[in-house]
Amino acid sequence: MEEYEAKLLKINLSNETIKEALLSPEVLKKYIGGSGLAAKLMYDRIKKKGKIEPFSKENALIFTVGPLTGTRFPFSSRYFVSAISPLTNIWGQASSGGFFGPELRRTGYYGVVIEGKSDYPVYISIEDENVEIKDASYLWGKTTYETQEILKKEIPNAKIACIGPAGENLVKYAAIINDGGRAAGRTGLGAVMGFKKLKAIVVKGSKKPPIENVEKFQKVVKESITAAMNSSAREILHKYGTSGMLEALVELGDTPIKNFTMGEWDREKVQNISGQTMAKTVLRKQYHCEACPVGCGRIVELPNKEKKIVDGPEYETVAAFGTLVLNDDLVTILKANYMCNAYG
Ligand code: SF4
Repeated sequence: MEEYEAKLLKINLSNETIKEALLSPEVLKKYIGGSGLAAKLMYDRIKKKGKIEPFSKENALIFTVGPLTGTRFPFSSRYFVSAISPLTNIWGQASSGGFFGPELRRTGYYGVVIEGKSDYPVYISIEDENVEIKDASYLWGKTTYETQEILKKEIPNAKIACIGPAGENLVKYAAIINDGGRAAGRTGLGAVMGFKKLKAIVVKGSKKPPIENVEKFQKVVKESITAAMNSSAREILHKYGTSGMLEALVELGDTPIKNFTMGEWDREKVQNISGQTMAKTVLRKQYHCEACPVGCGRIVELPNKEKKIVDGPEYETVAAFGTLVLNDDLVTILKANYMCNAYG
């Protein structure tokens, strides 16, 4: 696709300006999309502005997708968000699956660059070319689940990425949460959103991403889905989620135990919090990101009195609230995971 161009949306929250820019075929060919493209955009920015502080108007929060996002290509749903990280003071990036990335692509934009800082809480609404900065005072202080529920009622079928109280209060490891409990969790970019007083980004699109040779593309999609469906990793991830790997990774010495001071732990305790145990006890259903033949997402029921249906934890969460602190009580891990998602 030699002549392929893509549109970038540029929003300045300080003066509430909204502009479009074109990404040239050369830039797209060289940097493709996702974090590669975002790194190029940030590099150009630093060359122009010099050192950028994480909590400053100059810091840009950059949402990007890739050429396959929004198509039926398997595992293509992830979006990237990048900025100068408040946690490390250098380049930070995080990615998340779900449906937000594909929907962003369907608006016709390949990325959104958000700079400046609003004086009051706002959210950005992108419905194809209709882009608006809207008052979000009524959402400030709400959890990510509450925020998503309210915005979904206001804009049916939209996909939402938002922050919770952690991002609002500039917690340096705050996440951006989308599609229920999917998280762009690394490097504290939720706090950059909070600094900008940006509560959420809401996307709703109707455009199909361009595909040059549809027949050839469909053939490759079919082959890739077949390969994924036949892989043993798919079976483990679908049945037991990412924490279905816990026992094997502990055996390999890959999982942090007791604040990284131990190399192994009681096998029975590891089994108590594994994806296999979750499947036998609290799992209610699996869920997929868009265009995914695996479905590693978990919906679980909190046992005891609550009986609440919530998103289940990933391997990293099970390690952080389990092996890392020598906790083999699955229920507390489920609750901690729910609270982390809710507060961002
Ligand atoms: S459901 Fe799991 S395997 Fe599938 S795209 Fe989402 S994160 Fe990846």
